[in-house]
Amino acid sequence: MKKLLISLTALALSLLVFTSCDLFAQEKEECKHENTVTIKATQATCTEPAYREGTKCADCGYIFKAPVATGTALGHVEKQIQGLTVTCTTDGKTPSAMCERCGEMVVKAEIITKLGHKYIAAPTVLPTCTEAGYEGGEICEYCHNYNPDESKKPKITPPLGHDIETTQKAEAATCKTTGKTTGYKCNREGCGYVSESVETAIDPTNHVNTQVTTKAKEPTCTEAGCTAGIWCKDCETQVATSEEIPALDHQMGEWVAVEGTTSCEEKAECTRDGCDYEVSRNNHNYEPNEEAGANICSECGANQPTDSSTGNGEDVDNGTVESGATT
Ligand SMILES: [Zn+2]
Ligand SMILES: [Zn+2]
Ligand SMILES: [Zn+2]
Ligand SMILES: [Zn+2]
Ligand SMILES: [Zn+2]
Ligand SMILES: [Zn+2]
Ligand SMILES: [Zn+2]
Repeated sequence: MKKLLISLTALALSLLVFTSCDLFAQEKEECKHENTVTIKATQATCTEPAYREGTKCADCGYIFKAPVATGTALGHVEKQIQGLTVTCTTDGKTPSAMCERCGEMVVKAEIITKLGHKYIAAPTVLPTCTEAGYEGGEICEYCHNYNPDESKKPKITPPLGHDIETTQKAEAATCKTTGKTTGYKCNREGCGYVSESVETAIDPTNHVNTQVTTKAKEPTCTEAGCTAGIWCKDCETQVATSEEIPALDHQMGEWVAVEGTTSCEEKAECTRDGCDYEVSRNNHNYEPNEEAGANICSECGANQPTDSSTGNGEDVDNGTVESGATT
């Protein structure tokens, strides 16, 4: 059994050796260079010169005619690329250069690692008219930002505001003269804030030297009034024409009892200042009285007049009288 195994192994080994020998023999066969191909000419590049055509064997690669270089390489066409300034919080980059023709990075950019803040004691900044002042705290030496840490913040003094001096008072333009805006400057040293006075155009609606041609008159209850007529002496125009204001009519108050007379007598007055117009009426409540054989007012005892000219027996002064009770 063991003998059989050994002989089988020997057989396998001999087969393997035979196969290898066969392959070797094939490779060693001489190439007859029967298939010739052209090595294509090439154009010059940034780094390689141009090559003329050559020839080689397509089967074994044997070169019959090596391509000949003509001229020299073109060299890169450098295009500068700006660097990036490093800050406390962002990385920077050194300037670099790229070849415009082949895209190769001729000068490689180098990353500059971000600096990180470097806090130092902040100098005192005095406040100015428009800028706040800062005292104490920490500031970054590189980026000049204050340390945001609550305990490292500076004490802030608000801006002082300008110390204003008026150099020119404002003057309103009139129908005849130009005006001026206010001119002022800041008196605080080093500020230099100035606002020059500017001339303003003539204002045709601002009449200063006027003369009344028609006096204004308030209307009363019974008489019409008028607005003033005004003439400007500067621009010689009628600034305002007098216009009539119609009479107002009376503004009657409530009916009130007249003291010291019969209780049925009432009057109403015009409430407008300066007007003394008034009306009165008798507001009797007549009822038939058999003893007297006539109608008698139940309030004041007055007899109802029989004269037909007084209508319902009421004393009428105007047309607004209410009718008294007749039944
Ligand atoms: Zn060949
Ligand atoms: Zn290039
Ligand atoms: Zn910083
Ligand atoms: Zn100022
Ligand atoms: Zn005028
Ligand atoms: Zn009146
Ligand atoms: Zn009466």
